[in-house]
Amino acid sequence: MRIVALAGGIGGARFLRGLLAVTPSSEITVIGNTGDDISLYGLRVCPDLDTVMYTLGGGINEEQGWGRQKESYVVKEELAAYGVEPQWFGLGDRDFATHIVRTQMIDAGYPLSAVTEALCARWEPGVRLIPMSDDRTETHVVISDEQGRRAVHFQEWWVRLRASVPAEQIILVGADEAKPAPGVLQAIADADVVILPPSNPVVSIGTILQIKGIREALEAKTVVGVSPIVGGAPVRGMADACLTAIGVDTTAQAVLELYGSPLMDGWLVAEEDAGTALDGVLVEARPLIMHDVESAGAIAQAALDLATEIAARRGTAPQGEDAR
Ligand code: GDP
Ligand code: CA
Repeated sequence: MRIVALAGGIGGARFLRGLLAVTPSSEITVIGNTGDDISLYGLRVCPDLDTVMYTLGGGINEEQGWGRQKESYVVKEELAAYGVEPQWFGLGDRDFATHIVRTQMIDAGYPLSAVTEALCARWEPGVRLIPMSDDRTETHVVISDEQGRRAVHFQEWWVRLRASVPAEQIILVGADEAKPAPGVLQAIADADVVILPPSNPVVSIGTILQIKGIREALEAKTVVGVSPIVGGAPVRGMADACLTAIGVDTTAQAVLELYGSPLMDGWLVAEEDAGTALDGVLVEARPLIMHDVESAGAIAQAALDLATEIAARRGTAPQGEDAR
């Protein structure tokens, strides 16, 4: 079976690890969010691509959910000793090497998709990981604070300010010109099923859906999503601050409506959100907390089963040898 999944950082990566565990023989293409990308100290950093790559490749710091395990912070301390800003973004020594390799390749003229493939040759994540676009896009957040009304990089709002200042607007700078990276639309066209893991609906999934042509390509497919909102709150992180900024309630229902029909065909919600419903969408309630690889795998299997049921109801037999 050919599966396409969109993914942000931690939630997306943990779900994908479960998906891989339950369907090892499937061909999985992951379209990664690059709206969080930022240049720091002259280096290009792609937090969500790296979180997916490290998590699936066995190099992630499990407790933190991002960054490398067995990490040290000597370079960060040395930069701080020089007074170099920003000091609020944590990059470890091992992680720095990834960003050095990436920046070197980008400076040599390679597109981000080729760089990501090269980095993945080391990590062997078991999926094909493609950035949503090779064109540079960046999520910026409009805030008002003592410095007045201004736009800051998403990472400054999220990491430095911990989303404590309300976002008045969230904008993907560069979205109008950005094209899907090579392979993205083809992978969607070839997919038997598309999964939206429990990733941030605004700044991860929402960002990917803004790239020209991606939403339209997905609408032709069977798309099943997993709600990142359980019982009216994000499972972890501050996705509620992003939803509020775009005028969407922090509920499984509101996120489903945000994605909308015809995009969505199936939606997995937690048991406490069992009343969720939208015309044209098959909703199923089940435990949605990823405690470990096993529980993430059970959620992934439920998403695949829901896709199979949707196909059966429409009278289109699921394709692929292993369409379970
Ligand atoms: P980020 O880039 O690290 O913020 O990660 P993502 O974009 O992948 O997604 C974070 C989202 O995943 C948050 O909105 C969480 O609510 C959601 N999430 C994290 N862990 C879980 C979980 O165990 N179950 C569910 N349903 N959602 C989760
Ligand atoms: Ca992210």
